Amino acid sequence: MTFTDSLYPDNWSEIATSVKLEAGWCCQKCGLKCIAPGEDTSKLTLSQLRTYNLQVHHWNRNPSDNRRENLAALCSSCHLHYHRGGKSNVSPGQLSLW
Ligand SMILES: [Zn+2]
Ligand SMILES: [Zn+2]
Repeated sequence: MTFTDSLYPDNWSEIATSVKLEAGWCCQKCGLKCIAPGEDTSKLTLSQLRTYNLQVHHWNRNPSDNRRENLAALCSSCHLHYHRGGKSNVSPGQLSLW
């Protein structure tokens, strides 16, 4: 159990899915259309899969604060952008948790 895991509510995946659904599976910063569930991804490369992976961001970076206004759907590069500049080096893999 990591620090971040413990902060997430049990229904986090439902919350995250509804945020992405409301965004129409598009990044709310750059408008990139990301992969929706059930979409055919068989022709995409691994790096494309990573690029079009929509993630949910907490504006105040507190994963236990899941009020709708604290959440935004972002593509992986925009998400990374918001987490850059801090002292911690966040890898794209970790970003799905933030
Ligand atoms: Zn974006
Ligand atoms: Zn984030």
